[in-house]
Amino acid sequence: MKVLERAVGDITVFQLQGDITGAQGPTLRDRVDDIIASGSIQVVLLMAEPSHADEAVLDALIDCRKTLLRHGGDLRIVAQLEFADYAVKRLGGWLPLCSSETTAVLSFWPIGATGCMRVVGLWAHGDEVSKYPNPRRLVRPEWRTLQRVQIASYLRAGKAGISWKGFSSCRFGCGANGSSDLTDGIWYWPEGLAHYVEAHSVCLPEEFVETMAAHEWHVPPESRGVTGPPTVTFWVEWASALGLVPAPFGTCLGMRHEIKALLRNATTERLSSLSAPDTQRLKRILQLAGILASWEGVLEPSEVEGAVADAKPALGRLHAPV
Ligand SMILES: [Zn+2]
Repeated sequence: MKVLERAVGDITVFQLQGDITGAQGPTLRDRVDDIIASGSIQVVLLMAEPSHADEAVLDALIDCRKTLLRHGGDLRIVAQLEFADYAVKRLGGWLPLCSSETTAVLSFWPIGATGCMRVVGLWAHGDEVSKYPNPRRLVRPEWRTLQRVQIASYLRAGKAGISWKGFSSCRFGCGANGSSDLTDGIWYWPEGLAHYVEAHSVCLPEEFVETMAAHEWHVPPESRGVTGPPTVTFWVEWASALGLVPAPFGTCLGMRHEIKALLRNATTERLSSLSAPDTQRLKRILQLAGILASWEGVLEPSEVEGAVADAKPALGRLHAPV
């Protein structure tokens, strides 16, 4: 058996050539130790040849993965169906098996969930720097005056989401304003949102109102196509486009869309054209965007701005012809 080694971005790919038998286990363990010593902790193992299902091979793979996990890394295995079946029978899903090298490489990118519910109506507290807007800056007395009653009644008719301990307070000083979230299966909002629309003429994203209108102002009994958890990505981007949250947040989320679109069609050749530092800069953007998309995540604009500036050239190289 021969072990060929190459880098795809910051990931090491081992290609095993020739049939693997248990006797080769030590070789594999040594190679994994070597690359960890060199600072590489994410490994894809290509077992291209048909390999007989062998307990000793499985043991070697288990050891390799445990070693990588101990160092904060991980292993992905691309194997023939026969071996994959055997591994699943013996270990359940513990060994991460992938169908192709590209799938395995991309599984190390923090791409995040898709098809998520869109959260709207989360607010900054006072003048704090936040990824959420201040509703005082969204007051539009002329906005949708004819549909205002229908919008408020739609907002009150949502199905129950999460119930929180304690109440949210109206940012205009009216006092307690709801303690639960509501949803139509597509959008997700705090129950106090209707109050902001009715009492304070706070406007909402047109996309949200279009969903209400498309359902003739009645919350649909069931939603289709949305499977992911609620994320605040849309809300932060919408506020960013209106200039209501720090600009680097919007830029970072925009870069995430761009990176994800490029990765969707990325070949291993394309990914190999990136250096390890470039790959890490792009992954950093995905990580920061993931924090922006989470409810609780807090970021400093300067931190995001620095990461965006670092990643711009790398993004250019991801666009460039191979
Ligand atoms: Zn109020």
